[in-house]
Amino acid sequence: MRVADDDDDALADRAFEAGMAAGLDPQEETGRTGETAVTHVSSPWNHRLCTTCGQSFRRGDPVRVGDGGAAGSGVAPDDVAHLDPALVCAAGPGEEPEGPGGHSTDSTASTEFAAGVLATWPPVDGVPVAPLTADDWQVARPAVHGARPPRCLYCAHTFRAGEHVVLCPCSPASPACGAAVHRDPAAGLVCWESWRPEGRLKICPVKLVAVRE
Ligand SMILES: [Zn+2]
Ligand SMILES: [Zn+2]
Ligand SMILES: [Zn+2]
Repeated sequence: MRVADDDDDALADRAFEAGMAAGLDPQEETGRTGETAVTHVSSPWNHRLCTTCGQSFRRGDPVRVGDGGAAGSGVAPDDVAHLDPALVCAAGPGEEPEGPGGHSTDSTASTEFAAGVLATWPPVDGVPVAPLTADDWQVARPAVHGARPPRCLYCAHTFRAGEHVVLCPCSPASPACGAAVHRDPAAGLVCWESWRPEGRLKICPVKLVAVRE
C-alpha cells in the first residue's frame, strides 16, 4: 500500500538522520553515567585536570564518565578519567601505564617514529628538542593537593611522558623556569612552530629576562 510505504520511508529517514547525528556527535552519548565518551571542545570536563593522573583533557581524548559527569544534570563532572592506556588513570592503581610512560614494546615503536619525524622535519635553526620521560618534573602527575602542573605555553595542556618539547633555554634544569612548548609533530603537536614560527625565543616568558643566543 502506497501510504504505508511512504510512512516506512519517513521512519527510515528519521532513524538514519538520528543515527548520523549520534555518529557525528559522540557528545550525545555522555548524557548517561558510567559511559565512555570522547572529549569535545564543549565537554563539561574540558578545562579540568584528571583527578587520578593529573593530566588535562585534550580534544579527542577518550574518557570514562563517572556518576557525577552526567551532562546537564547540574552535578559537577568530578569523576572523569582518561582511557588512554599510556596514562596512570587508565592503567589502574599500582599498575604501570603502557606506552612512553611505561615499559611496553609500543613505547619503543612510538619513540622510533618520533625520532624519525624529528630527523625528517627538524626545527628551524636547530632549536634543541627534548623528549620528556615519566621522571621529568614537567610531566603532570596524580594530583598533589593544590599543586598546579606546568602547561604548554601555546596549547595550555599538560605534558605527558614521551612527548617532545622545546625548553626555555634560560634555565632548562631549574623549576624557576622550565617553561616548555610541545614540539612533537608525530603526536600532532606543533605548538612550537605555531608559537614561534621564526624558531627563536629572545625573552624568557617566565622570568622576562633576555635569553642568550
Ligand atoms: Zn587521567
Ligand atoms: Zn602544546
Ligand atoms: Zn625561561
